[in-house]
Amino acid sequence: MKIEHIELLPIRLPIGSVLTLPRGASRTLSEGKQIILVKMTADDGTVGWGEAGPSRRWSAESTYSTYTTLKEYLIPVLIGRNAFDIAGIHAAMNTEIAPGLDPGQPIAKAAIDLAVHDMVCKRLGINLQTYLGAAALDRIPLAYLVSAPNPDAISKVVEEGLAQGYQGFKVKVGHNPDMDLANMKAAMAAAPGCIVWPDANQGYSLDQALRMARAFEALGVELFEQPIPMTDVYGMKKLLSSTTMNISLDEAAMGIPYLIELIRREAVEGLVIKVNKVGGLFYARQMCDLARNAGLKVIGSGLMDAPIGYHASVQLFAAYGMDFPADLNGPQHMSDDYLLKPLPKDKQNALVTTQPGIGYEIDEDRVRNDLKLELHI
Ligand SMILES: [Mg+2]
Repeated sequence: MKIEHIELLPIRLPIGSVLTLPRGASRTLSEGKQIILVKMTADDGTVGWGEAGPSRRWSAESTYSTYTTLKEYLIPVLIGRNAFDIAGIHAAMNTEIAPGLDPGQPIAKAAIDLAVHDMVCKRLGINLQTYLGAAALDRIPLAYLVSAPNPDAISKVVEEGLAQGYQGFKVKVGHNPDMDLANMKAAMAAAPGCIVWPDANQGYSLDQALRMARAFEALGVELFEQPIPMTDVYGMKKLLSSTTMNISLDEAAMGIPYLIELIRREAVEGLVIKVNKVGGLFYARQMCDLARNAGLKVIGSGLMDAPIGYHASVQLFAAYGMDFPADLNGPQHMSDDYLLKPLPKDKQNALVTTQPGIGYEIDEDRVRNDLKLELHI
């Protein structure tokens, strides 16, 4: 089965709430969730779908950069390639866009990777989890993302999540230590018996992070996500030795070579897996294997994924099993999608679908019309 055609379809999905990172809004309400959809067609007519939906405040890719990278550099070297040679497809993409500390524009590459996996699984007549060769779980508990400026607002967001049946809450911190601590206390008070953890998105200095780790640990928090900048290996190691909490790395764990270096330097005990930040399922599954074999905790997450990235993540996380509820907050923030029928859920557990491929049906008419995003290039 050869890749015959790849089409790019930029779309915009409206969002109902803003997720604020230390650098500012991950996306404003007017920007919405901007996505470059990839429709890949093989020479036997099999179709696979992928997507890239970056946040320029989270990593170094944008809607425009993913579009131009796909169009100008990646797609031209993929036409005619054997779709089953996924390693070869990644090698060809890495020849065009060089990897560095991260896999080199991983979100653009992940769009291709998702489409290829979807196409291959459809051709084989199996779902993605079966293709991955592991079936630890058939459902993934989801976490509710809590991003709000003060304790009162935090309590309200947590109550919203509880009312919808969520049992896990990830609280965005990294802005202001005193307010962050008050916010964490409010979140934990509003959600007794639930799993609540902070994510600083690299927002603290080392001395702030050490103080916050002590304070969070005293509250009974078990997990602290990416407290300090991704390049501070010394700091990550020092943090680990200062607390019994799991310090999990997210922005620092974008590429396999850097992750191996962190393991060698005894600077990592937990890993946040995101399919798109690592360049797609090809690398995300390797990262899960590496983490499991190295005895690291594994936490499933995403980048406010739309249904393709969301359900690919669900199938991967269910294949390996995760240690905390997964922060797949796309459905929480987006008020519309491009599906013909909704993905299955049981309360706030995402269910693995058994249909061939990653497991969704795209409303192609809406993608080409109502949801279309005009890019000015
Ligand atoms: Mg994170």
